[in-house]
Amino acid sequence: MAIVVGIDVGGTTTKGALVEGDGTVVERTEVPTQRDAATKTIIGVAESLLIAAREGGHTPRAVGIGAAGFVEHSTGSVTFSPNLVYDDPHISAAVSSATDLPVTVDNDANAAAWGERTFGVSRGCDDVAMLTIGTGIGSGFIVAGKLVRGHSGAAAEFGHTVLDPSGPPCPCGLKGCLEQLASGGAMGRLGRAAAEQDPSTKMLEMAGGVTAIDGEHVAAAAAQHDEAATRVLRSAGRWLGIGLSNLVNVFDPEIIVLGGGAVEAGEAYLGVARDQLAAMTAAQRRRPMRVDVAALGNDAGIMGAAALALEI
Ligand SMILES: [Zn+2]
Repeated sequence: MAIVVGIDVGGTTTKGALVEGDGTVVERTEVPTQRDAATKTIIGVAESLLIAAREGGHTPRAVGIGAAGFVEHSTGSVTFSPNLVYDDPHISAAVSSATDLPVTVDNDANAAAWGERTFGVSRGCDDVAMLTIGTGIGSGFIVAGKLVRGHSGAAAEFGHTVLDPSGPPCPCGLKGCLEQLASGGAMGRLGRAAAEQDPSTKMLEMAGGVTAIDGEHVAAAAAQHDEAATRVLRSAGRWLGIGLSNLVNVFDPEIIVLGGGAVEAGEAYLGVARDQLAAMTAAQRRRPMRVDVAALGNDAGIMGAAALALEI
């Protein structure tokens, strides 16, 4: 069976796996991403997986990479990356010369969307919208069976669509982006603000101090029916639902897939988003939208990178 290397480059960790054509993971590895030398990290992961492949009697035929940042898919180069430094932006050429294998590179959220579509919850669907909601919000869109990459690879940055132009500033340079209103990072910011007002909130007790409160504390406190935390999740969920309505107006997808750590906040967040979206689609007399949680969890990126490599 065909076997390939899939690599998912994130802001803190780089994950890689040897993946067979049916999605079986034969070997996996995970290392911290060198923040000033992400391309070196990728090459290190690829080389260690190729050694493991040889020892196991496998012959990988290609390398697929999902990389955080704006990626020009046709050349396999990163053109803009706010959170990471790629010591060599021409990732495809660098990894190909180190491994002697063909290499394909895409944005990490695109890879995750492709992973869910190939091996996960949206398998077989040709029109898919996926949001990866963590500290920020990444997104990948599949239209008529193809990933939407845009003219220069900078498409599908739905997290940076503006919902409130006078809202909180975003590292991307704009204000009030969806990411600043509905992500895990936004939950943390809103949770800290709520704890300043209400020192009795469980969020404070869980985090040990206002500045330590993050999205996970908000979700955990809401799960224990903390009122302030529940209000934060309701706000984030409402903004997410509004964002999803905008997305539906652009793409009319068959399925919306929500992944990333923030979906673990559960129904106090996702239920509000679904209700908001349902109210807005009903107002427009649209059909009800299918909104599912990603099936591959943290593996969506590596599985998608592998799936893209299998298609070379
Ligand atoms: Zn932004």
